[in-house]
Amino acid sequence: MPMATTKRDYYEVLGVKREATAEEIKKSYRQLALKNHPDKNPGDAEAEKRFKEAAEAYEILSDKDKRQRYDRYGHAGLEGSAFHDFRNAEDIMSAFGDIFGGGLFGDLFGQRRRGPRPGQDLLMKLEIELIEAARGATKPIDVTRQEYCGECNGSGARKGTVATTCNYCGGQGQVVQSRGFFQVATTCPACGGEGVRITDPCPKCRGTGRTNTVAHLKVDIPPGVESGMWLQLRGQGEPGDPGAPRGNLRIQIVVRKNTFFERNRNDLICQVPISFAQAALGAEIEVPTLDGRDKLQVPKGTQSGDVLRIRGRGMPDISGRGRGDELVEIIVETPRHLSAEQEELFRELAKLEHENVSPRRKSFFEKLKDYFTEDVDGDETDKA
Ligand SMILES: [Zn+2]
Ligand SMILES: [Zn+2]
Repeated sequence: MPMATTKRDYYEVLGVKREATAEEIKKSYRQLALKNHPDKNPGDAEAEKRFKEAAEAYEILSDKDKRQRYDRYGHAGLEGSAFHDFRNAEDIMSAFGDIFGGGLFGDLFGQRRRGPRPGQDLLMKLEIELIEAARGATKPIDVTRQEYCGECNGSGARKGTVATTCNYCGGQGQVVQSRGFFQVATTCPACGGEGVRITDPCPKCRGTGRTNTVAHLKVDIPPGVESGMWLQLRGQGEPGDPGAPRGNLRIQIVVRKNTFFERNRNDLICQVPISFAQAALGAEIEVPTLDGRDKLQVPKGTQSGDVLRIRGRGMPDISGRGRGDELVEIIVETPRHLSAEQEELFRELAKLEHENVSPRRKSFFEKLKDYFTEDVDGDETDKA
């Protein structure tokens, strides 16, 4: 995972308050990116560092889900999430270019965007069982994506022919127009920025250079993975222009609801019903755990809602820092249907109840008595 140990607070990086709106975050990031952009600060390593740092902070804080995780758990909450690995200004611009609008960075980045473009990232969801999230797993996945056409090797030109340089832009992919004092570069309308034109298209891919295929891949699920986390398979996304890298495949994990367990961080909560008698007398009961059935000692006098902790039987930590606990929440069930014999016994019990009143009930009834004899409104009638 690309996580460094010492990281600045993302809000501090962007210079915004923790309760900043999405709009404020965007605005602040925009200003920082413009100020620290490498093209404006050639050779200034500090500015470049700030530029990348701001992009990372923006990536998290502009994503509602990631921001929530960060707010709750800090940097640790983002472990296991896939990140853009920003290597240069171009990566950042292709990730967030839309927020800079066409005109603002258009000139700076119009020039940089020339050359082969990397492929797009593919996103998908993958449902897994809790037990797979606990133990880790290798899951097969089918991904519909494009491949370079085998017939023309991705050139789009009929086998034996070659794509010719676009004569409209001279292979530059953009055209420069003079508007008064300014020069404005725009994408070449003839070749769509490719710089080449195909006169005799490949029949198999109709000149696109790509064909749709289904790729059979395998994804390794790390133990401890949580619903909502992203895994990334590098270079398994859409193909880029010839010579450019493929995009990545990003997979969001969805852990299916489990019959017994609910996850809270690395702990697993399990509700277990027991009877009146078991609660009063104590009992050894069977409980489910991730590792199979296990015995648990319920102490005498257990109340409904009491939580018994089985240490080290929760989910493994995604960073390998041990395991959480299993929390067994006891539900004491009041019997709804009594046999004649049971009813008889409960009546016997009821006769004995005044002999052994619990301190809690005793104090409750004392308070109840005081409450109604207290003269709150000066009216003496309720003192009978
Ligand atoms: Zn082809
Ligand atoms: Zn052109």
